[in-house]
Amino acid sequence: MCCRRGFSIWCPHKDYARLQQFEWDDNPALKDKRLFVPIGKRGYRFGMTEDGACHFLDEKNLCRMHARLGFDAKTLTCKMYPYNLVDWGDRIFIGLLFSCPAVIDNTGEPVHQQRPLLQKLLDEQRLLIHSANVVEDASFDAKRFMLSSSLDLFENTLVEIFDDPNLSLLQKIIWASDLLDMLEEATIDFSDPTSFQDLLVNAKSFARDKAEHGGLCSARFGFCEEILFRLLQGLCSTLAQKGLTSEIWQVRQHARLTRLYSAFQFMFTNSVPMADSIAFRSAINQVQAYPFPKQSEELICRYLKTRYAARAYFGREGWGTPVLHGARMTLALPGLIVWYGRVFAALQNRTEVIHDDIREAVMLTDLTFGHAATAPMPKAGSALRVIAREGWPKKMALSQLLPR
Ligand code: SF4
Repeated sequence: MCCRRGFSIWCPHKDYARLQQFEWDDNPALKDKRLFVPIGKRGYRFGMTEDGACHFLDEKNLCRMHARLGFDAKTLTCKMYPYNLVDWGDRIFIGLLFSCPAVIDNTGEPVHQQRPLLQKLLDEQRLLIHSANVVEDASFDAKRFMLSSSLDLFENTLVEIFDDPNLSLLQKIIWASDLLDMLEEATIDFSDPTSFQDLLVNAKSFARDKAEHGGLCSARFGFCEEILFRLLQGLCSTLAQKGLTSEIWQVRQHARLTRLYSAFQFMFTNSVPMADSIAFRSAINQVQAYPFPKQSEELICRYLKTRYAARAYFGREGWGTPVLHGARMTLALPGLIVWYGRVFAALQNRTEVIHDDIREAVMLTDLTFGHAATAPMPKAGSALRVIAREGWPKKMALSQLLPR
């Protein structure tokens, strides 16, 4: 999947120097192809076709580089997929990229059976990026740090919320969102683990009660996360993805402008950035998102749990945001998924979302958000960090982002 969906596959200088020595031209499919495209001081990326497939991918969906040189010769980004290893020194958090069919359908081998491979990849990752994230605590928001033990509790709590079999997906999102609000507003000392644990237990129980008996209107979404959410919807545009990976300069420039325009259009007018025509826009608006299949709810819950448990939602692996922002952004992903699900349904002339739409939407969303810790942060990260800072006006109703 990573090989044929317009993913920009990073090839560091060292790998480029090694791989470009081979006579790839003797394979007719690779002859005269731009196999390595410079991306500045970070090195290269693999060139791809206009459809977004890596040139090394053959017609049977197998890698020509792998076939000729073996698994070990590939770049770390290629070998790592679909894993994402978040390195905290003495502890490793293993994430999975949901753009991979085996991951999204839960059909791959269990992670604990992959230990030798994962250890090998970890060693290589450490050599490549030279540093583990060995900090003892994490920034919760602009003002407070949390201890590693408190961070564990916090993430376990979020995983438990999305594991609750008795509430709907929407109720779970509201529950988690209220919990985050309460933590943000609490005045306790976050460096005291006992106080933090008490606060977390009480806030979790209080927020659950509200989610079960309250309503959507009480759930809040920080304004800066809303802006991020909207910008990211613009960033996800199919046109932008294709254009940004195109070999043709004019197409890339056009896509950049379209992406920017789309983001601002959506931010200010709430209209759909992907939809070019008014007719298609109205077709999307007619698609009923809820209720959608139980299977889809389970998939989204599994996706969120994996993101929280893999610790890839804040800091270096999560757009540089503090824990609170990263956790809220993750809560916004279902909104993005449901919105894309509606787009896919409209493309098939349906007025209801089915599981395949949601499955496709999770893949697309993760393609944008899911990235390997080994890969350099996308440039968009620095722009998003600027608007994610503290001090923006806060809070808008979550219900406005999640169609019912
Ligand atoms: S080099 Fe091979 S594994 Fe890497 S993206 Fe291309 S086809 Fe996929």
